[in-house]
Amino acid sequence: MRQYNSLRDIRTDIANGQVSCRQLVEQYIHNIKEKAELNAFLEIFEEEALAQANAVDQKLANGTAGKLAGMVIGIKDVLAYKGHSLQASSQILDGYKSLYTASAVQRLLQEDAIIVGRQNCDEFAMGASNENSAFGNVLNADDHSRVPGGSSGGSAVAVQADLCLASIGSDTGGSVRQPASFCGVVGFKPTYSRISRYGLIAYASSFDQIGLITKSVEDAALLLEVMAGADGMDSTASQREVPAYSELLQTNKKYKIGYIRDCFESEGLETEVKDAILGVKDMLRDAGHEVEAVEFPYLDYIVPTYYILTTAEASSNLGRFDGVKYGFRSDSVTDLTSLYKKTRAEGFGKEVQRRIMLGTFVLSADYYDAYYTKAQKVRRLIKEKTDELLEAYDFLILPTAPTTAFKIGENTTNPLAMYLADIFTVQASLAGVPAISIPVGRDANGLSIGLQLMTRSFEETALLAFSNDILDKITVEA
Ligand code: GLN
Repeated sequence: MRQYNSLRDIRTDIANGQVSCRQLVEQYIHNIKEKAELNAFLEIFEEEALAQANAVDQKLANGTAGKLAGMVIGIKDVLAYKGHSLQASSQILDGYKSLYTASAVQRLLQEDAIIVGRQNCDEFAMGASNENSAFGNVLNADDHSRVPGGSSGGSAVAVQADLCLASIGSDTGGSVRQPASFCGVVGFKPTYSRISRYGLIAYASSFDQIGLITKSVEDAALLLEVMAGADGMDSTASQREVPAYSELLQTNKKYKIGYIRDCFESEGLETEVKDAILGVKDMLRDAGHEVEAVEFPYLDYIVPTYYILTTAEASSNLGRFDGVKYGFRSDSVTDLTSLYKKTRAEGFGKEVQRRIMLGTFVLSADYYDAYYTKAQKVRRLIKEKTDELLEAYDFLILPTAPTTAFKIGENTTNPLAMYLADIFTVQASLAGVPAISIPVGRDANGLSIGLQLMTRSFEETALLAFSNDILDKITVEA
């Protein structure tokens, strides 16, 4: 079977009788097993996916198939799927099975997508390298000694290594965009509230958003179109109408683009990443867009602000995992207090414990104003400045990450170094605006480099169309 880069190609081959959903699923499952050392999937839903493939083939033959017929998808282990295990790559949810299906996943199924399995990630989506999973590291398919990024590392590698056509992940501070950048695929975080989060395990609720990892922008647009929109089960989901993003990908508009100068002068930025992104900037200028340098004075504050607020929210959200009603419970328990303490000490990994403690500290009575309240105020400044820039410019461009995929183990002893891997992705998360990472080049080691674009809230149509256009140009040139 050939390698597919978009659902459109698959549908063409299905229509010509060259491939069936059944064959697609068989092939992807074969790939997952053959490349098991990548550790991208925690579980394959083999029988179920094959049965679903047969059903969709039937519907295709009858002309009753949904928009996503032929789309084989993997889901990050933070999304509920009724009757299936759900663990957030953590011991603490050992044995837990979802009682219901996430709204976003339900909408995919309604359009005849096939869910092939559950993907490895950093525990509770906390991490930037997938080294925090209770189920082991995920390897970058381009170089097995390197990380895939995180926290949606399994989801990114699955698309990179052709283990499925698309993955559904979550992005709180870059978890879809940064691994996409490390793995040479498209990673897209829509506007905060665009997709219902009913059935997504909460990490930091004022940031969390479901995001997509695909090979083409077109597939990202199609998936967004299916998943986005109001949901009676999630009052935080936006009521705004959902455009037909995938039909609005043509653009020949000349845009006003700002490139954030401070990012390009930032200390940890690798020269090859910088040069590649500046190269795209020049290409855009040559193509007739107006490109200007802009100042973003808060770059030094975004990582601390993000980590104060997200750990605070995480310490509250993760309070429910206590060993009482579901999941793991320590077997050396003597009384109620020891049940909580031992279960949480044994069930949560080191990074999750670090964040719960940090978050509890910043919310404690004596330090609340000094940290939490202050960080809220800084977030407001960051959001206002970002919105102001996005009033003046259609898009802001910057690298997705300061480096290409780093070596496994390189940052594990230094949490601060790991947190700095998020320096370019957390701005969009703090501001709630949509952002995408698209692959625009490779360094001398053959490792992928991602360009990030941000735009105004709910302007996904233009963001996707423009990203599609850039990706087309780069592919043609390459
Ligand atoms: N790397 C960031 C963190 O560890 C982002 C995680 C995410 O977006 N879920 O918090």
